[in-house]
Amino acid sequence: MRFVDEATIRVSSGKGGKGCASFRREKFVPKGGPDGGDGGSGGDVYLRADRSLTTLYDLRLKGAYRAENGQPGQGKGKHGRDARDLVLDVPAGTLIYEEGESGKRFLADLSRDGQTARVARGGRGGKGNVHFKSSTNRTPTEHESGEPGEEKRLVLELKLIADVGLLGLPNAGKSTLICTVSGAKPEIAPYPFTTLVPHLGVMFDGLGNQIVVADIPGLMEGAHTGYGLGDTFLRHVSRSSFLLHLLSVEEISPNEPWAGFDLLNEELRQYGGGDLASKPQIEVLNKIDLWSRETVDQLRELARKEGRRVHFVSLRTQEGLQDLIRAVWELWSKAKDLQ
Ligand code: GDP
Ligand code: MG
Repeated sequence: MRFVDEATIRVSSGKGGKGCASFRREKFVPKGGPDGGDGGSGGDVYLRADRSLTTLYDLRLKGAYRAENGQPGQGKGKHGRDARDLVLDVPAGTLIYEEGESGKRFLADLSRDGQTARVARGGRGGKGNVHFKSSTNRTPTEHESGEPGEEKRLVLELKLIADVGLLGLPNAGKSTLICTVSGAKPEIAPYPFTTLVPHLGVMFDGLGNQIVVADIPGLMEGAHTGYGLGDTFLRHVSRSSFLLHLLSVEEISPNEPWAGFDLLNEELRQYGGGDLASKPQIEVLNKIDLWSRETVDQLRELARKEGRRVHFVSLRTQEGLQDLIRAVWELWSKAKDLQ
């Protein structure tokens, strides 16, 4: 199965422009010397890391990318124009491989924002006939054609590490949370296996920090059908430093208000791959707008008595959201200091 964080694309650099064969034409000079200029070089193809991107989805849509060719040289020694380079933006954290007959060869790891790698070099422009003049040949018609470009098949792998894994039953509000806190639009694309594709969002603090939030979709569904979580995806979240556990008030019974959290944690221990269950969690009770103020306050009080830190929020009315966001940044910076 393919995840959204892998893409195979074809890239071609531009051909070099043809060198020109021409001769000077001047008054009173019957046969001027050769003056055919060189062709311009073809465009290179670069990949560049852009940390505001979160998936390789857009790149995969088109699949094939081609840089422009160099312009041919001209008379009067005029050099053909060099083609512009083609720069393709990829999410920071993308690994680049070239796929050839003999397998995959590692090319580059674009981990830092703005980092670039040339993946295909444009062909050199051909030499014009001005270069082929010699004592024995004063009227060379020789000229070179431009070098061909390179064509490559690249495999891109995004090893975007989620800082925060989102945990919660279907309908708890995980996608809504990602949309709400995210500076980048999360993928809401029609993938064939929507529930198993990681949904990623990115929170920015405006100071150059970012927190990548990943939905842990299909945990329950997957576990029960024996399908499990995709290995690729588990690897994503297993590197995350903590989990944000979302529970909807619709799932709560007033006499056992936190049972939903405990239940899912038990599932996680059983199916979710060892160390996920032992990560710190921020517990969030969502959709409090569906309850009366009274009920919410009672439960708040109960949580306080039991020493259970639960965030009461409504993603619909945004009540409690700022507190939650602050808590996420706090835990994140603590976890970062520990690393
Ligand atoms: P997910 O399955 O965990 O990703 O849940 P979604 O984010 O898709 O949300 C499920 C449904 O709950 C959607 O119809 C949301 O609009 C709705 N929802 C999310 N947050 C709230 C909330 O705070 N209050 C109410 N009333 N509905 C919410
Ligand atoms: Mg969802």
